[in-house]
Amino acid sequence: MTDCIFCKIINGDIPAYKVYEDDYTLAFLDISQVAKGHTLVIPKTHSQDLLETDSEVLAHVIKSVQKVAQMIDKSLNPDGINIIQNNRAFADQSVFHLHFHIMPRYKDDIDGF
Ligand code: ADP
Repeated sequence: MTDCIFCKIINGDIPAYKVYEDDYTLAFLDISQVAKGHTLVIPKTHSQDLLETDSEVLAHVIKSVQKVAQMIDKSLNPDGINIIQNNRAFADQSVFHLHFHIMPRYKDDIDGF
């Protein structure tokens, strides 16, 4: 999709700090780091949200979410990890290309959320 910012990241038209990539998915640091290591996982094919995503694509995405969460757990040693996924503007979605937030949590971040 030409006007989708995450499609532009997939196509290399705008930069992102990539942390994982395979044939179906891409993971990169969120531009606004709510917590150190805050990462987004997206499918390489465009779909607006979880409700509109093909179930096979979704299976690839959730596998990558687990893989990247395990990578973050090993490298940053957080005290916990939130996985967050918003659907539609009313539910706080602001970029309309399916994505999962992986948010590492640390004991001292309690006031940061
Ligand atoms: P919200 O903005 O309420 O978190 P979403 O769940 O749709 O809504 O999340 C979109 C996320 O995409 C935001 O956390 C935002 O910081 C991130 N984002 C937007 N543009 C970029 C970009 N160019 N590179 C990395 N992350 C981005």
